[in-house]
Amino acid sequence: AAKDGGRAAYRFFIASHNERSLERLELENDLRRAVEGEQLLLYYQPQIGASSGRIAGVEALVRWRHPTRGLVMPDSFIALAENAGLIDAIGHWCLVAACRQLRAWQEQGVPVPRVAVNVSARQLRRWDFAQEVLQVVTQSGIDPAGLELELTESSLADDPEQILAIFSTLRQAGVRVSIDDFGTGYSSLSYLSRYPVDEVKIDRSFVSRLLDDREARSVVRAVILLAHGLGMRTVAEGVETEAQWQVLSDLDCDELQGYLFSKPVPPHQIPLLKGDWQRSESRLPV
Ligand code: C2E
Ligand code: MG
Ligand code: MG
Ligand code: MG
Repeated sequence: AAKDGGRAAYRFFIASHNERSLERLELENDLRRAVEGEQLLLYYQPQIGASSGRIAGVEALVRWRHPTRGLVMPDSFIALAENAGLIDAIGHWCLVAACRQLRAWQEQGVPVPRVAVNVSARQLRRWDFAQEVLQVVTQSGIDPAGLELELTESSLADDPEQILAIFSTLRQAGVRVSIDDFGTGYSSLSYLSRYPVDEVKIDRSFVSRLLDDREARSVVRAVILLAHGLGMRTVAEGVETEAQWQVLSDLDCDELQGYLFSKPVPPHQIPLLKGDWQRSESRLPV
């Protein structure tokens, strides 16, 4: 009986495994057509100056309008795209779309100073990645300083020399570089002094623990001090409450991003945002 049960379980495993790979294969095929089929779109989430209360920039976040599955979020298809060799095409599309959108806002007089685009580790493996970015910047007619690239810590682990060369080409041209999800990777602090970047994004997991976890608060304080010491800006991700805003302001964090201000929205909604946020606690009765 035990043997039968084992065999049954094994068969079940095979079936579900096949189903899953079939679904993955299907999704992968669909994704191949997504770029040409104009099924990708970018949402944008504002990054707010902690002291000004104004939009300092927006982050472009990709979505996939799948013909039958509806709006698919990046966590469900970016890894797939990376493994299927589709991330270069998708990444390029995002870059072009974000730069064009920034240009359009600026022509309409919408006060968006810069756009941040997420870049996968794999994209950095292309020897001509920096040239590709600079070409898109030129063709879209934006100021290079209006573009920021967000890279995760783990992408820095790959090939230090290649990455340093890419960073240096980009930064010499004026494009900014940001480290995303900071604190979740490996030997984080040493990366900061080794790689010349403009901005550090403190991961949401620290922000969410900020109020009731003294250690999280110490880490955030140390990261901000170190970043400032190295001439870098700091952005906190996933700010959801005014209390977190207060603590982050006290710790001297430069910019804030999170649902407290706005979730990611389609581009036409950016001009409709308040654009001038103030903490209610800052107007304490005397
Ligand atoms: P990320 O770059 O760290 O982006 C932040 C994610 O946190 C976004 O999820 C955003 O919607 C979410 N978020 C923002 N504020 C809050 C908040 O206050 N609370 C909570 N709980 N969540 C918040 P999203 O849009 O699902 O993107 C997930 C990840 O997918 C991104 O994480 C990024 O790593 C990746 N991604 C998105 N767009 C692209 C892209 O164009 N290219 C690449 N390579 N990766 C992308
Ligand atoms: Mg940024
Ligand atoms: Mg990001
Ligand atoms: Mg992040």
